Amino acid sequence: MALSIVHYGDPVLRQKGAPVARFDAALARLAEEMIDAMHRADGIGLAAQQVGRALQLCVIDLRGMDDHFSWRLDASSPPLELIMPLALVNPEVTVRPEPVTRYEEGCLSFPEIRGEVLRPDWVSVRFQDLHGHPHELECDGLFGRCIQHEVDHLNGVLFIDRMEPGALDPLKPAIDRLQRATAKARSR
Ligand SMILES: [Zn+2]
Repeated sequence: MALSIVHYGDPVLRQKGAPVARFDAALARLAEEMIDAMHRADGIGLAAQQVGRALQLCVIDLRGMDDHFSWRLDASSPPLELIMPLALVNPEVTVRPEPVTRYEEGCLSFPEIRGEVLRPDWVSVRFQDLHGHPHELECDGLFGRCIQHEVDHLNGVLFIDRMEPGALDPLKPAIDRLQRATAKARSR
């Protein structure tokens, strides 16, 4: 069965993900189903919380995005087609505080709500793949931003938490409506 994506107002989005300890077929299947759900929704990233599972697992697929960004994975620069879709297990992010960039983000758990978020441009992330093998990725631009957005999810942090008041305030009515609609749907 296809996974459905939970919306803001579902408490699972505020849960910190448990570390993944078993790199088994069930984990591989969950990642595959998350990738499928992300593609169906035309998203570029999805965290386990967004399919109702509080786990340290997220998936990313930036193929076809023409924004300029660079990356190094395990000290080489493989073509994007070779590394995407990318599943990150137990990721730990380190950011370089400067420079920061401003960019309008969306989130599959906030349909039709978009807002500008300031984030550091460059990140380094240590993670495990679906077999448990460790990797180190350095990236910037949209790639770095996407990683930060998804890893925030794994810690129960949402993009609205990162918005400055000027970006967040105009969105508040829509966010409140979404939260109420989610609560109502959950109480049925
Ligand atoms: Zn999101």
